[in-house]
Amino acid sequence: MDLILRQCRLADRIVDIGVAGGRIIAVEPAITADAAIEDVGGRLVLPGFVDSHIHLDKACLLDRCGHDHGDLGAAIRAVAAAKRYFTEEDVYARGARVLEQAVVQGTTRIRTHVEVDPRVGLRSFQAIRRLKRDYAWAVDLSICVFPQEGLTNDPGTEELLVQALEIGADALGGCPYTDTDPDEQIARLFVLARRFDLDLDFHLDFDLDPSWTHLEEIARQTDVNAWGGRVAIGHATKLSAMTPARRDAMARRLAATGIAVTVLPATDLYLMGRGHDRDVPRGVTPAHILAGQGVTCSIATNNVLNPFTPFGDCSLLRMANLYANVAHAGPAEFAACLDLVTASPARLMNLRDYGIAPGNPADFVVLDAFDAMTALAVIAQPLTGFKNGRRSFRRPAPVLFR
Ligand SMILES: [Zn+2]
Repeated sequence: MDLILRQCRLADRIVDIGVAGGRIIAVEPAITADAAIEDVGGRLVLPGFVDSHIHLDKACLLDRCGHDHGDLGAAIRAVAAAKRYFTEEDVYARGARVLEQAVVQGTTRIRTHVEVDPRVGLRSFQAIRRLKRDYAWAVDLSICVFPQEGLTNDPGTEELLVQALEIGADALGGCPYTDTDPDEQIARLFVLARRFDLDLDFHLDFDLDPSWTHLEEIARQTDVNAWGGRVAIGHATKLSAMTPARRDAMARRLAATGIAVTVLPATDLYLMGRGHDRDVPRGVTPAHILAGQGVTCSIATNNVLNPFTPFGDCSLLRMANLYANVAHAGPAEFAACLDLVTASPARLMNLRDYGIAPGNPADFVVLDAFDAMTALAVIAQPLTGFKNGRRSFRRPAPVLFR
């Protein structure tokens, strides 16, 4: 045995965790073996946070885009103009800053969306591929390429996406709401997903008008292609504007079809409801309620310090806390909210080796809290983390000098 983590608080018990060769080999009370010891004193230990939706390629743009863009369309236009000048080195440097933040916040698995189109070519994609390799010591990075500004209306984009998929993208994303022919974009992306055997992850239904939705078409295509369990949608803010009865019907459809939902509270709060001058709607879909109805859900970061979201420190615990606050989730639901940034996004990403169990990678994050409810309520500080059995960061607890 290489390492023993002593006195780890899991959801239902306190255990020791034994590690050898980068993997968990034992989860038991009081392990005795000749190994390095890390005593965490009964603190909460998680297998790391899972960020199912973040944009590394367009993070940290406030110095060149400003941030006062008003609404979603203006944010897309501001970044579209900026990305013509993205170089591989520039994307790498900004992405590295964000990844390092995510690591010290306790994130061990990430799906990053990367824009591919004739304006930026494959430059962002190539930079993110280098980040995936260079930060593998701390985080598993899954790359999801997608056409942010449309597919059928943007000549050359599909060819570039195919190139990225041939080089080795891990998933395929979509953005039907910016396409002049949304249904055709959805259909073409399903064709590519089948050809390359990839999961799909759409930006979808990102407004508060409940009178129409692309969800029905996504569900139909998921059934036609038998792709259930391999399709996710991000934002889905329209669901927050529907009556509970209609939202419940949608939840039943999502659960039955196998479509997962990622809610992005920081962006949804910042960009939705801009047309209201009072009683502004929150525009945040109630993920924990959908999860209770059998839908695989996650809460994720989305954008960091750019025109879509001029905030962000990559703390998924902060995001789950923010979500719980705006979604009226009380202490009895805090554990469910913590699940939305850990085990549930791992299911969304079809990560079959996630979790504190023998055989899985020895990924751990120790939080400065003694139970899940408190960790979420106070946004407990991550104290240290391990990736594949090797320490990846340490954040010493604050010290008072009386
Ligand atoms: Zn996004």
